[in-house]
Amino acid sequence: MKALRYPAWDVLDIGDVDEPVLAPGEVILDVAAVGICGSELEAVAHRSPRRTPPLVMGHEFCGEVIAAAPDVSEVKVGDRVVANSLVPCDRCRECRRGASHLCPERGIFGMNRPGAFAERVAVPARVLLPLPERVSPLQGALAEPLANGVHVWSLLAAKFPETVVVIGCGTIGLLALQVARAGGALRLVAVDTSDARLEMAHAVGAEPLFNPARDQVVAEIRAFTRGRGADVVIDAVGAPATRRTAVEAVRPGGEVVWIGTHGDVTEVSGRDVVLGERSISGSYSTTFADMETAVALFAHGRIDIEPWTRPFPLEEGARVFRQLLDAPPSDYAKAILLP
Ligand SMILES: [Zn+2]
Ligand SMILES: [Zn+2]
Repeated sequence: MKALRYPAWDVLDIGDVDEPVLAPGEVILDVAAVGICGSELEAVAHRSPRRTPPLVMGHEFCGEVIAAAPDVSEVKVGDRVVANSLVPCDRCRECRRGASHLCPERGIFGMNRPGAFAERVAVPARVLLPLPERVSPLQGALAEPLANGVHVWSLLAAKFPETVVVIGCGTIGLLALQVARAGGALRLVAVDTSDARLEMAHAVGAEPLFNPARDQVVAEIRAFTRGRGADVVIDAVGAPATRRTAVEAVRPGGEVVWIGTHGDVTEVSGRDVVLGERSISGSYSTTFADMETAVALFAHGRIDIEPWTRPFPLEEGARVFRQLLDAPPSDYAKAILLP
């Protein structure tokens, strides 16, 4: 079958790979749509040891069940489904306490098991959710990243935060903004170094928009909140500078969530955190419950993807991947491949 392959460092091509094999508890999906994730671009750009070629990547996908092992009862042939990106062990302490996304034994599509940049992929039935008829394949491919945004929201204590700031308007940031709106945020502020990305944030409801190339972001957010600071700041970049901005822009008693992984060691003011009782949470991936919420948000029309997504046939996958790496486009933020 045809696949977007990652056969060696710095190489991406379209070619043949072996058909997936049907294992107990698993199904074969005919992949309808699969998103190219920032983590996969980073992996290729930095030769990440977490994604070592030869590999077929792709962990944000939906499709139709075309074969099921005899012991599968969760879904049947013909069902439209979306998959979680993680395959937890379901036995360890994290899995048993309901935090399967932190399972140390977790499998991940396109990392330690074959991914969905292909015509077909094998998936354990227990990580699948049904996709309602009114949720499109493009939306289905965005259910996992949307669930990442839902997971961020689930970590917050605030119910109706007046001002929510999202730093970084890539896929996760653009989805986190819309989850915040659906979740009760009253005002959305977007921060990005790209005016094109800020326009996309504006199209999904953010106002005002701040660009650190031009604006003193922390001072602007303070001014916008009459000197107080934002109730919630979500950093969807993960660079030391943006993490620091998040802590500096949040009000006393406010909440910061870090979801980006662009950088690592970060210096923040311990005094601001302690004396202001500012909380900082890390958010990683998503749970099955977050996936269900994400699918429901799409089903009920709460999430706008048109202004910032672009579909491409799988055949163009290598070229699109290369373009996203070399010169990120200004007219869309997320590429979705249609095998
Ligand atoms: Zn992803
Ligand atoms: Zn586990």
